[in-house]
Amino acid sequence: DLYPVRRALLSVSDKTGLVDLGKALAARGVELLSTGGSAKTLRDAGLEVKDVADVTGFPEMMDGRVKTLHPKVHGGLLALRDNDDHIKAMAEHDILGIDLLIVNLYPFETALARGAEYDEMIENIDIGGPAMIRASAKNHGFVTTVVDVEDYDALLAELETNDGQTSYVFRQKLAQIAYARTGAYDAAVSNWMADAIGEAAPRRRAFAGTIKQTLRYGENPHQSAAFYTDGSDRPGVATATQHQGKELSYNNINDTDAAFELVAEFDPAETPAVAIIKHANPCGVAKGATLLEAYKNAFDCDRTSAFGGIVALNQPLDAETAEAIVDIFTEVVIAPGASDEAKAIFAKKKNLRLLTTDGLPNVLEASHTVRQVAGGLLVQNKDAGFISLDDLKVVTKLAPTDEQLKDMLFAWKVAKHVKSNAIVYVKDQATVGVGAGQMSRLDSALIAAAKSKRMADAMGLDQPLSIGSAVASDAFFPFADGLLEAAAAGASCVIQPGGSMRDQEVIDAAEEAGLAMVFTGMRHFRH
Ligand code: 5GP
Repeated sequence: DLYPVRRALLSVSDKTGLVDLGKALAARGVELLSTGGSAKTLRDAGLEVKDVADVTGFPEMMDGRVKTLHPKVHGGLLALRDNDDHIKAMAEHDILGIDLLIVNLYPFETALARGAEYDEMIENIDIGGPAMIRASAKNHGFVTTVVDVEDYDALLAELETNDGQTSYVFRQKLAQIAYARTGAYDAAVSNWMADAIGEAAPRRRAFAGTIKQTLRYGENPHQSAAFYTDGSDRPGVATATQHQGKELSYNNINDTDAAFELVAEFDPAETPAVAIIKHANPCGVAKGATLLEAYKNAFDCDRTSAFGGIVALNQPLDAETAEAIVDIFTEVVIAPGASDEAKAIFAKKKNLRLLTTDGLPNVLEASHTVRQVAGGLLVQNKDAGFISLDDLKVVTKLAPTDEQLKDMLFAWKVAKHVKSNAIVYVKDQATVGVGAGQMSRLDSALIAAAKSKRMADAMGLDQPLSIGSAVASDAFFPFADGLLEAAAAGASCVIQPGGSMRDQEVIDAAEEAGLAMVFTGMRHFRH
């Protein structure tokens, strides 16, 4: 299963390592064929290179759109070396076998990340490269395909071990990587186009990404994991800059994403806001006159759970907030920027990870969420549902006050980011109790109230913060019991979608308990 490498075609956009690779191949007596820029780089380094144009008899033309698309190239890559007909065809048409293909593609994803204009994106769609990669990988019985600079060393080691030959297993492995690359490449092109034309429907989309990081492990240490980017330039954990701290873990990435998506609900031009996340659920969210105040109020919701949490800010991290954050153990902080002073304060906490971005995620954008189920992918538009004052329907005789309305809308935004069943108590633009992920809404209401009580005890307050709060429920109350529990916890008003068969029973219970209640007509399940 060993096959010798006698002739190589090198055509790369990213010239990293090209000269060293070319030299090592030449030293083994491998003949080098190459395209324009790659050939020049090799030649400038003193290597002997044959131009593909001389092989095909055609110059590179149309701004490089047509360079290698020719039977002399594709025949050389595709011919089965043990098939008499193929060998005869090669001889008849003067086709020389190409045993090794080194290609990396036009940097479409880099152009995307930099937000290049439409025409520039189009020019960055590589045609000949993927064609050669697919041909060469198909013929992995004989041909070796390298699509990643990262694999040059392994190639040279393989040639060294096998005296200028590659093994079938090696070629097969590289072929698998090659198709992952062309698949991801076309997915990036298709998804870019979908965005460009505003096609948001999850139908007929391609799913693939580019590996960003091999993770130490997954959700648990016995699970292996990796982080892929979809190539978009959306502000978020995938595009953030990490300034310090250990490498992000799988759980860190997941939680940081949840934190940043949540805090992005609050317009930074309006007020500072902070979200503290544990296990993808908020254990405190607050607005404040300053970031520091927002952080403190968020922290006071559930100080116990905030330990080891992820903190997301909707404004650049400042020094005084940085000081407060380093007071307790925090895993990750993500913000749309950080002052030098804040960075200096964090620098003393070696393990604390600081991520900054160029902005906040656009919560109204109809992007996608993807979840794996056995045998498939479940795809939907992201929950970009948005409720404003005008959407609210007051269903009780008692009308909420302006303050109550503000707190209800705040609670509603938070509830959208809490695993169902979600119950969120809010007082003065800060959460004071969050019940998440329970199988019954009643239990979520009980847990949120119990947390509020526990915090009041810990802080030495004479009554729980939930007294006089607004409560949000991510979906309707199927029975009055959950609502009555919220009333017992001291809530004064309720925001919920409505739409239950027993709405009247729930409204009656609210009236009796003296609560004001509004319906949103929209629900925010999050499972
Ligand atoms: P070079 O810098 O060597 O001039 O060009 C290398 C790049 O051209 C590689 O990214 C390779 O994938 C791409 N390429 C090779 N052949 C063709 C072709 O026929 N058409 C297009 N559009 N790109 C090609």
